[in-house]
Amino acid sequence: MDSQERSAREQQAGELIGEFEDAGVVGVALTYVDNSGITRVKTVPLAKLPAAAAWGVGMSPVFDAFRLDDMILSGTYAGSPVGDLRLHPDIARLTVLAGQPGWAWAPVDRYDQEGEAHPQCSRLLAGRLVDNLAAVGLTARMAFEVEWAVSVGDGDDFVPACQGPAYGMIRVSELSDYSVDLLAALAAEGVRLDQFHPEYGAGQLEISVAAESPVDAADTFVLVRETIRAVSLRHGLRVSFSPKVLVEGVGNGAHVHLSLWSDDTNVMTGGDGEFGLSATAVSFSAGILDRLPALLAVGAPSVASYLRLIPSHWAGAFACWGLENRETALRFVTGPAGNRQQSANLEVKCFDATANPYLVVAGVLAAGLAGLAENAALPAPVESDPASMSATARAAAGIAALPSSLEEAVTAFEKERALQNAFGVELATTIAELRRYEMELFAGASPEEIAALTRWKH
Ligand code: GLU
Ligand code: MG
Repeated sequence: MDSQERSAREQQAGELIGEFEDAGVVGVALTYVDNSGITRVKTVPLAKLPAAAAWGVGMSPVFDAFRLDDMILSGTYAGSPVGDLRLHPDIARLTVLAGQPGWAWAPVDRYDQEGEAHPQCSRLLAGRLVDNLAAVGLTARMAFEVEWAVSVGDGDDFVPACQGPAYGMIRVSELSDYSVDLLAALAAEGVRLDQFHPEYGAGQLEISVAAESPVDAADTFVLVRETIRAVSLRHGLRVSFSPKVLVEGVGNGAHVHLSLWSDDTNVMTGGDGEFGLSATAVSFSAGILDRLPALLAVGAPSVASYLRLIPSHWAGAFACWGLENRETALRFVTGPAGNRQQSANLEVKCFDATANPYLVVAGVLAAGLAGLAENAALPAPVESDPASMSATARAAAGIAALPSSLEEAVTAFEKERALQNAFGVELATTIAELRRYEMELFAGASPEEIAALTRWKH
């Protein structure tokens, strides 16, 4: 970050101050997501925004080492109380928070005091992977699906805020004003929504947003969750994005959709491969499929993630792919005939919202790029629920179960060269050490205790 860049950022923020003042903005929340998937914040009064854009706001690097219970890992590359970082808001994403009158929000990138990129900044990492993709002539469009459960009041026990059946209109009627306020808030924030619907689990709802550039998709995931939380609180509701709100039943996923583009062409369709996939899309998808066990250390990073990631719960617990198959970890979606250029995409189902979305973006793109470099091939698609096949039939079809514990996922992550290289030794080591530190927290805990301790953290 040189002085020219600082001046440009200061000017960009300064030009917006009047508009945001007119919108009633008093404070600006500057957020990043830590390695345990928790959104952390510093705020500045609106008048300070230009200075914050140019010089950043101080925050300790110790947050790289925060566990979900706020205990701090004493790690090889993180956890020291010494040093300071600068949080630089991305003014292009500055948004008035419709669910929190008086507040605006912007995501930050983290630099050191010398203006160098912090090696453990996940948002800058995601941006670098987008650049690596551009270097091979491709762009990606991505979107995170948001599933959550609403609970009545502020108690720690989960009390579903609606009783209607799964996908039932009753739930929309029960939560009619809440739902309208939520849709209005997201529209006011400029979030392009595809759908809102009641989900399967008790008190569970879902929003899908339109695809956008990968870093924007991760930013939007943060914005949407905080907007859902704010609107819920104003309606006396508490919100859980946890992978397993209750041990029984289905969990909350955070599925990631991805399409790959060469110039203005979606290469997920119109090709010679299975279901119209191009050779590029096949290799990219295979790169992700091959690395799913390791990617889980990033996309399903909590001990509670493995209460959710079980067969026959639409969570994608098997390492395989299929056309519109909700039990394969990779679900390929073509969309309707006539609209495939717009809609064909790959959905990674096995991830959840305890993940840092910037790490997910970086991990998925790094895995896909590795697949491209290897000219990787996809196995045959799977057309049924793998759990309904015999173990012998699964083995014959080359379908393996994904890791059933965080320990297994972390071990795979540590061995996965493409991810280790992309993340760099500092961040990759911190992630692995922090996951093990969280395993220590939950050692000997029952599933109910794991669910309870994770329920309200994200
Ligand atoms: N709630 C399911 C999950 O844990 C996903 C349901 C769906 O396919 O939308 O991922
Ligand atoms: Mg869903």
